[in-house]
This record gives sequence, structure tokens and C-alpha cells, in this order.
Amino acid sequence: MRDPKQIYEAKLKAVKASSTTPRSAVFNALLQSDHEPMTMAELTAAVKSVADRTSVYRTVELFESIGIITRLQIGWKYKLELSDDFHEHHHHITCTKCGATHATHDDHAFESEIEKLAAKHGYTLTNHYLEISGVCNNCLSTNK
Ligand SMILES: [Zn+2]
Ligand SMILES: [Zn+2]
Ligand SMILES: [Zn+2]
Repeated sequence: MRDPKQIYEAKLKAVKASSTTPRSAVFNALLQSDHEPMTMAELTAAVKSVADRTSVYRTVELFESIGIITRLQIGWKYKLELSDDFHEHHHHITCTKCGATHATHDDHAFESEIEKLAAKHGYTLTNHYLEISGVCNNCLSTNK
């Protein structure tokens, strides 16, 4: 896989945007958090030394529109992470009680079922989104 930094810069360049300090701080925070999607509050806190709330919001908006960030809709809330261009395709299971997020990797059987489903309807699959909600083991055992 290519260097994430290169992908990031290419995506900005494609829309004639440059990597400002707040932008690269937001990108690096998400890159470091890797498979743990961040809430807007967590992201804002992570970069607060170089970017204020408004510029974080603006940056997230830009990143979403050019495919650097994916927004995971979890009920009425959302979390942010880098798009599939930066890491292996996966889905998330989120606990509805404590908000813990678990990433699903290498579920090839499931992925090929989705491809088959699209093919059955005459489509070649290019993308899909799926978020799974449930109650995690921790919450189950403490909440009888
Ligand atoms: Zn993820
Ligand atoms: Zn939980
Ligand atoms: Zn998938």
C-alpha cells in the first residue's frame, strides 16, 4: 500500500488545496488513531494546540468531500476515520450502551456475499457502507 501521506497530498492537490497546519494535524490525528474512529470532540481535543474548533469543522467538511475521511453514522451520532483509501476495507460494530467500537477485518465470506447480492441485481459492486449496532460483552455483564 502507498504511503498514507502521499495519498493525502495527492487528494488535496487534485482539488488545488494545500496541506495547511490544521489540515495536516487533523490528518495525523486520524492516522494515529488508525482503527479507532474518533468523535468530533476527540478530534478537536487532539489538535487543539494548532487548530480551533471552526477550522477543525471546516477541515472535516473538506476531507469528507474529497474522500480523505469517512463519516460513520452511529444512530444520531457519528464518528470519523480515514477512508478505505488509507486502510483495509472493514466495518464497525458499535455498542449502543457505552459507544465502544470494534472493527471487523478479513471477513471475506461476508464481503463476497455482498458482491453476489449486487451481481444478482445486475450491478458491479464499487462500494458499500454498513454499520452494525449491538450491546458489548462488558455492558451485558454489568447490566443484568
Ligand atoms: Zn474503522
Ligand atoms: Zn458496551
Ligand atoms: Zn464490506
